[in-house]
Amino acid sequence: MAQLSPLLKQATPVLAERGEGVHLYDAEGRRYLDFTAGIGVTSTGHCHPRVVAAAQEQVATLIHGQYTTVMHRPLLRLTEALGEVLPPGLDALFFLNSGSEAVEASIRLARHATGRQNIVAFQGGFHGRTMGAAALTTAGTKFRAGSGPLMPGVAVAPFPQAYRYGWDEGEATRFALRELDYLLATASAPADTAAFVVEPVLGEGGYIPAPPGFLEGLRERADRHGILLVVDEVQTGFGRTGRFWGHEHTDARPDVLITAKGLASGFPLSAIAAPTALMERGRPGSQGGTYGGNAVACAAALATLEVIRDEDLVANAARLGARLNDGLRKTAAEHPAIGDVRGLGLMQASEFTTPDGEPDPAAAARAHRAAADRGLLLLTCGAFGNVVRMIPPLIVTADQIDEALDLWSAAVAC
Ligand code: PMP
Repeated sequence: MAQLSPLLKQATPVLAERGEGVHLYDAEGRRYLDFTAGIGVTSTGHCHPRVVAAAQEQVATLIHGQYTTVMHRPLLRLTEALGEVLPPGLDALFFLNSGSEAVEASIRLARHATGRQNIVAFQGGFHGRTMGAAALTTAGTKFRAGSGPLMPGVAVAPFPQAYRYGWDEGEATRFALRELDYLLATASAPADTAAFVVEPVLGEGGYIPAPPGFLEGLRERADRHGILLVVDEVQTGFGRTGRFWGHEHTDARPDVLITAKGLASGFPLSAIAAPTALMERGRPGSQGGTYGGNAVACAAALATLEVIRDEDLVANAARLGARLNDGLRKTAAEHPAIGDVRGLGLMQASEFTTPDGEPDPAAAARAHRAAADRGLLLLTCGAFGNVVRMIPPLIVTADQIDEALDLWSAAVAC
């Protein structure tokens, strides 16, 4: 008899039978407030009726139109619709299945387009688990240890982590940019450097928004040295941060944007977007995969975009993100174990520290478990596992935020 591989590490012992909106239900009918959204995926909520209808209709029409063999309409329609929300100039799209695959595709595109090999990633970043994406991932050694050799040609520069350094954001940003200049002068010559790959908010690395000036500093250096700025919006895209794209909190614009997760409400779909002129410097036929741009996933993504627009979900994420942040701060003020609260939009986190300011993963794990026991599903993150994050679906209401905050404050008090 077969069994699930012990490789699987599951955050909560819940067997999800059914999902509806912000709720998951287990086999006994117990209801959970799902503030994980399947790791930031089900932005329109579980089984949004319009997403379900679009997928059902597509399933009955064409499930798989393999895009290197035949083209299909959902892919064309989605391409057109994404043109409305992508940053100006990023007018060419290439579709894949997962965030990791899209990261790999962006590395390959950057190398082809520049003729350079090296990629600079930022410490604490997460870009996926495949060997190329893992080489850019420093959100925790658990993603790398024992797995090497990973993809060569990667240099890692600091990401401005003000709280961890005990600095203000300006100091942290100046330090990180100075270290990047040092890295370009010592380890990865600009003439060898194809791209900077960066998240607008460190996700798995601890929910740390790029401070003002950091992405702009990368943009300026990218322009100066002919390096591409690749922004990984896998977790921050599609309204999650209260703007459509996370980088829109800054003045910097990417050369290549990577999206997945919230794009298709739970169907496997990812994409890279870049100016056509840049994509033309890639190599046709070098990228892709059997299931990339799947027709049902594309139909679901189209419906997702419509729901985000019609239900004004980006504004909802901004408004309720602020409410969530306020409430988390109130809880933190009562519990010294929470050293920091931060985030953008509906991507919020509480960091647990010991009285002398050291990471306290045990306290985070206790609060996480106590919340799950009370019916509130959350995730941890951060290199030390001491950050508890909340990423509810973007359809969440003020009452549901307040309910989650009550459960959270009870869980932290345990
Ligand atoms: N980039 C970022 C910023 C992510 O958060 C993730 C997933 N957590 C990935 C890439 C990898 O995506 P996937 O798990 O779909 O491969």
